[in-house]
Amino acid sequence: MRLANLDDRLVLLADGGAVDVHRASDGRFGPDPQAVYDDWEAFVAWAAGAQPGATAPVEAARLGAPVPRPRQVFAVALNYPEHAGEANSTVPERPLLFTKFPSCLCGPDAVVEVATDMVDYEAELVVVIGRRAHRVAAQDAWAHVAGVTIGQDISARDVQRWGPAPQFSLGKSFPNFGPTGPAVVTLDEVDVDALEITCRLNGDVVQQAPVTDMVFSVGTLIETISAICPLLPGDLLFTGTPSGVGARRTPPRWLRDGDRLESEITGLGAITQSFVAPAYDATPAPTTTTTTTAVRREGAGARS
Ligand code: ZN
Repeated sequence: MRLANLDDRLVLLADGGAVDVHRASDGRFGPDPQAVYDDWEAFVAWAAGAQPGATAPVEAARLGAPVPRPRQVFAVALNYPEHAGEANSTVPERPLLFTKFPSCLCGPDAVVEVATDMVDYEAELVVVIGRRAHRVAAQDAWAHVAGVTIGQDISARDVQRWGPAPQFSLGKSFPNFGPTGPAVVTLDEVDVDALEITCRLNGDVVQQAPVTDMVFSVGTLIETISAICPLLPGDLLFTGTPSGVGARRTPPRWLRDGDRLESEITGLGAITQSFVAPAYDATPAPTTTTTTTAVRREGAGARS
């Protein structure tokens, strides 16, 4: 199955068109593309026997984020060895996790404002949780996954470097910095070990790698996260990006007005972003005052 969000309604993509799930199920499942993950097993059972009926054509521009309002979005840094190498980092001993705040999510065919002078691209496989996962072992992890999709972990590198230690989450969460789609593809339709990521900038291939290059597998990531945070139906997990990001090129290649980015994964389709100059002053300055510095030092002292 390929689940998508067409004009804010849950659809199944089939035969080049879309089937409206609310109508096709006579109201058994609601139109909200997010809600289906809370009723995932019943939905899979219904879909297996459904007669999809007529489809309507789909224009990519009408597709929204297939999972529009996840309660949690996890992401992992330095999860491909060559990317860790280009970032002058050793491969970490444990997954280096952060969040993309859900307000950054958007659909597969988005216009993105270049929010700062150091905006970069990261094509990634995104896993969608279909069954609550708490303290799940790696070998059982895929049983908790509804499907996979494509994501771009767009990142303002200057904001990441604010402060004494990297803070990934904020710089990766400007509006539309989390494009996803075009559809959530269920695991019966893909061989997850055969997936390959390709990212093109203005037509040139800038990233390309099989997902089997991951340092920490999807199973290990789910085991690590779920040991602490229960993963909830409809949560997203961005699984890291291969080498070739703009920050590590000589000279760096930052995204700018007029750029067009395409991210493709074997069998999952492709997502495309157009970049435009922001309608406001780029690069908001970090606010560092004596007071906040003092509070931080006090806090650090209190913990040590
Ligand atoms: Zn990333």
